[in-house]
Amino acid sequence: MSLENQFKNQQPIFYQILSKSFRDKKIPHAFLLVGKNSQFAANFIAKSLICDHDVLACNECQDCQRIERHTYGDFICVDGHNESIKKKQIEYIQSQFAKSSIEGKAKIYMLLNIENSTNEAMNSLLKLLEEPMPGIYAIFTCQNINRVLPTIQSRCQVIQLLPNSKKMLREQLEKNDLSKDDITILSELFDSYDDCLTLIETEKFEQLKLEVFHFIEDLYFHRENLIINVQTHLLKNFKDKDSIRLFLNMLVLGLRDLFHVKQSMELTYPSYRSLFEKVDETTEGIIKKIDLILNTEYLLSTNANVFLLMDSMMYKI
Ligand SMILES: [Zn+2]
Repeated sequence: MSLENQFKNQQPIFYQILSKSFRDKKIPHAFLLVGKNSQFAANFIAKSLICDHDVLACNECQDCQRIERHTYGDFICVDGHNESIKKKQIEYIQSQFAKSSIEGKAKIYMLLNIENSTNEAMNSLLKLLEEPMPGIYAIFTCQNINRVLPTIQSRCQVIQLLPNSKKMLREQLEKNDLSKDDITILSELFDSYDDCLTLIETEKFEQLKLEVFHFIEDLYFHRENLIINVQTHLLKNFKDKDSIRLFLNMLVLGLRDLFHVKQSMELTYPSYRSLFEKVDETTEGIIKKIDLILNTEYLLSTNANVFLLMDSMMYKI
């Protein structure tokens, strides 16, 4: 089966978006691929950008093969898998691509596992994305889109990959005695069934779901109680960074539901629907809050003090 047909079968959404934009010659300047094993798809986009043989990549010509072997002159690939992506790497890309083209075709930079970037790198990248230059294309991959700044997401064509594995994960979860909420939340939080099981075996998951509900309720309807309630419940019961990180990721899913409920989309927390429907918040306001929570989550991985960090987040939110 040709590579193109393989994508057509296994990643129909990816294939549709890609073939339409290439056919119409409306190719986005930046792609963000979400999912595991996204490098395969990322390479396919890069090849499609320079292949002269087909609308998408033929995968056989010299140019296609040079992308595969990383020997195409105007192609820079940085992987955040083992070490976080640094500002100087973004600056290097910028300086290289400011020079004239080596190949006389598209210049492509690929950042794999982009969620593993320093804040400074993300900010430099954002500036780069804000002023897209003709002929320069960005291809990013991530495993957890909640860890990528919404401001970056909004400048990319976001494509969710591997619908099959999510579907499979959901099917596996459905075999357990779980609520609809649990199945959607767990499948949003994790990619592996084992990670889901580890979490539901503890009391923590149930408690954190409730904390998300109370946080959003206090935030919009009892603002004056927000800080004290978080201090006396959440932070009293969960002092470790991993639990707080999990809480923040679950909170982002809750806030995202505030968008979804307005657009009649499927919710991650279906049983919180009536609360979410009462909330009156602008899209911009939700994005700002999600940004702040993601930034807090990022700071957790530094040496910051959990309590001070959460306090600061609640004052600003
Ligand atoms: Zn080719």
